Amino acid sequence: MTGMERTFPICRACGVQYATPRLDCPICTDERQFIGWDGQRWTTLPELRAQGYHGRVEPEGDGVIGLGVDPKVGIGQRALLVRTPGGNVLWDCVGYLDTDIVTAVRALGGIHMIAISHPHFYGTMIEWSRAFGGVPIYLHRADARWVGRPDEAVVFWSGDTRVIGDALTLVNAGVHFAGGTVLHWGGADSGQGALLSGDILQVVMDRRWVSFMYSYPNYIPERPAAVRRAVQLLEPLGFETIYGAFWNAVVRIDGHAAIRRSADRYLRFAADRPTES
Ligand SMILES: [Zn+2]
Repeated sequence: MTGMERTFPICRACGVQYATPRLDCPICTDERQFIGWDGQRWTTLPELRAQGYHGRVEPEGDGVIGLGVDPKVGIGQRALLVRTPGGNVLWDCVGYLDTDIVTAVRALGGIHMIAISHPHFYGTMIEWSRAFGGVPIYLHRADARWVGRPDEAVVFWSGDTRVIGDALTLVNAGVHFAGGTVLHWGGADSGQGALLSGDILQVVMDRRWVSFMYSYPNYIPERPAAVRRAVQLLEPLGFETIYGAFWNAVVRIDGHAAIRRSADRYLRFAADRPTES
C-alpha cells in the first residue's frame, strides 16, 4: 500500500474505488443504487483512516472469518475470508483497507485469490489484491463494464460456473446483476458445504430464508426467469450454510432447501394471477 494508491477516489455511497477522479459514480447513478441525499461525495483511504475508520475481524462460521469496516463504508457489507487447505479466498470486498487489517489477515494465512459477487461490492479490491502480492480477482465478464479501476489482477470469467480451487466453484446465479455470482465451498462444515451468496441471494431477517431483488434500496424485484435459472444452477450443489452479505446474516442449517423454498415463495407472490377473493 503506497501513498500514491491511497489517493484513488472512493464513492461515499457505494464504497467503490475508481482509477481517476470523476463527477459521478456510475454504480450509484444506476437504478439499482442511489446518489447520496447530500449529492455525490468522494473520499480516499487516507481520509477514512484519519477519520477513525478501522477494520472489524470476527469469525462468522467454520473456517470463515468476517472482514468489515467500522463505521460502515458505503453499503456496509462485510467480506469473508474463506480458509481452505488449498489456500484462502477473499469473498467480496469492502471500501477500506489498512495495515492493521493486512496484519490480521496475514496471521490467518493471507489471501491467495479474490472473488466478488457483483459491482456494489468491488470496494477497494485492487488495494486488497496488491496488499497480498497481486492475487487474482475473479469477476464475471457480464459485469465488466462496471469495473472502475481496471488492473491486471482482474480475471474475467464467463459462462455458468468456474472452478477456482479445490472444492471452490463460482456460480453465475445472475440475480441482481447479469454477472451476479455466488461461491460454493464444498469443504465447509466438515464437507457439508456452504454457499457464500453476497446479496445475490439475500439472507433476510428471518434467517431461514433468502430473497431475490434487482434493487434492494429501491425495492425493484428480480425477474422470475432469473430466479428460476439461479435455483436450477444451484440444484446440484450440496450445502447447509448460506453466508449472506452482512454481519451474522447466515442461514445455519438446511441452506439448500431454504433456497428452494424461498424461490417457491418468491415466485408465488411474483406470479401475475387474478386476485383471490
Ligand atoms: Zn457509488
